[in-house]
This record gives sequence, C-alpha cells and structure tokens, in this order.
Amino acid sequence: PMCSSRELWGEEQYRETMPEREKYAHKGKHGKGLIIGGSSKMPGSIAMAAKASLKAGTGLLTVASSETVIRMIASHCVEAMYQPVPESDGYLTDDPDLSVSDYDAVAIGVGMGRSNRSAAAFRHAVQDTNGPLIVDADGFYHVKPLLDQLAQREHPTVLTPHPGEMAELMDVSIPEVLKNPFRLSAEFAEKYNVYVILKGRHTLITAPDGRQAVNDTGNPGLAKGGSGDVLTGIVHAMVMQEQGIFQALCNACFVHGAAADWMVENSRACHDLMATDVIEGISMVYRAIS
Ligand code: AMP
Ligand code: MG
Repeated sequence: PMCSSRELWGEEQYRETMPEREKYAHKGKHGKGLIIGGSSKMPGSIAMAAKASLKAGTGLLTVASSETVIRMIASHCVEAMYQPVPESDGYLTDDPDLSVSDYDAVAIGVGMGRSNRSAAAFRHAVQDTNGPLIVDADGFYHVKPLLDQLAQREHPTVLTPHPGEMAELMDVSIPEVLKNPFRLSAEFAEKYNVYVILKGRHTLITAPDGRQAVNDTGNPGLAKGGSGDVLTGIVHAMVMQEQGIFQALCNACFVHGAAADWMVENSRACHDLMATDVIEGISMVYRAIS
C-alpha cells in the first residue's frame, strides 16, 4: 500500500540526518563509485558529475568514458581514475569487460546522447550493478525500454528527471507533469520500484513506497546547463555515505541547492552562477552546516 506522507526537507532535516565522517575512515569506507557517460559532443557533463561526486564525499571514483572524452577531461578532474570504453562515432558502446558489479554505486547517462550504439551499455549496467544505480539525462531514453527490468532490481534505482524527461518517460505532456507532480511521481516510483527525483524550483523526491519530500534549497542561478550533472554527482556520492537511501537523496538535493544559494549570497549572482561554481559551493555547505 502506498503511504502518502509528504515532508519538507531543509536545513533541520539535513543537520539531523547527515552522517559525520568517522575519525578512522579510509577511502574505501566512503564509497568506490563508477560514473559511466560522456560523448565527444558533451565531454563536460561527466567531468562535472565526477568532480561533484568527489567533492560531495566519494572515496574512490572511476570514470568510464571514451578515450576521446577522457583525454579532454582528465586534467579537469585529476582525482578520478579513468577507464576507457570503446566508442563508435563519438558515442560510448558497451564494454563487456567493465566490471560494474565491483562498485558500490554506479551513475550512468550524463553526456551520453541517444545513439543506439550505447543501448547495450545500459543493459549491462542495469543487469550487473551490485548497488544503487543512478540514471540521468539521455540515460532515460535508454532505460525506458528497460523499466520492467528496473522493477526487478534488488538494489535501489534512482532516476533524476526534469519535467521534460519525466513527461517522456511516462508518455504524458509536460503540463500534466507540472500539474500533478506528486501523484505521477508516486505512481511511477511504485510501478517500477524506483526512486524519482523530479527536478525543478522545488525538487520532489519520491520513494517506491510513496514517501515524498520536497527540497527547499536552490535558486534560478541553477537554470543553466550542467546543474543537473552536478546533482547526479552529488546523488552518486550521497548514496555511498552511511545513511538510508531516501535521506541520502534528500540530502543530495539539499546540498546541491544550498551550494548554489551560498554562492549566490556570497560570491556570485544568479546570472553568472556556473555549474562548476555549484561544485565549489559544496565546500561551503559542508563547512557551514553540520
Ligand atoms: P537539469 O535540467 O538536468 O540541468 O537540472 C537542473 C537542476 O537545477 C535541477 O537540480 C533543478 O532542480 C535545478 N533548478 C533549475 N532551475 C531552478 C530554479 N529556477 N530554482 C531552483 N532550482 C532550479
Ligand atoms: Mg540534465
């Protein structure tokens, strides 16, 4: 049965639930993560997701992308490890040797595009990931035919659509999504056993059991390319810190929005806020709120 509890997620909830980093922690304890994505036309997305994931706390991060993309981004994110995956026409193809099951959480989709050449990579990730799987961006196009498989996964699946992507996933119009965000998210989350982060001015987080929370941070400076890629990285990191999955997702949305808010209040304006500035803002949120 679906419960219909709705919460507001803000600073108080974040303070109460965000785990501290243990004194004797080692990098393995904070997650060995994998991010799969990128294409020659969108090399920056996966760079931003990777940087955000590390900044948000991931212990060890591997980026799987084409050699072309890796060459372009490696110097922008020197803390990550890189795993070259075969490409065709600039798009990732599947690498059967990529051991997705060795990671604590996998994020797939950012900057990948919609080439059918990438379809097998998604089947591989859906079938073999042995922990939370986060899908974003053009990844929705690729997982739409795999929704029934997502429903069977033993580990959590997290989808992070904006209203346009949600509309496409559900075969409804964007105005319909905007009119009924709570009901549609809950129906979809229950039907396919997925966590849905429906992004917007007030991002709505929904669990498969119907639990829902609304995030209260963020500002219009985030209405710019790259913001969503940064959120994906933060979500990827948060699900590997020791906390329940639902609160991890809420805290990820909180940190993302609060990072943007801090930057706009202290060193940027809404007009010039860049997605990379939001990554920088994560530090301020972590320092200021604990
Ligand atoms: P994407 O559309 O994938 O780039 O994701 C955009 C990100 O920015 C999401 O996390 C949204 O919640 C956030 N965002 C976009 N516009 C706004 C806004 N006007 N106010 C607050 N957050 C926003
Ligand atoms: Mg996006």
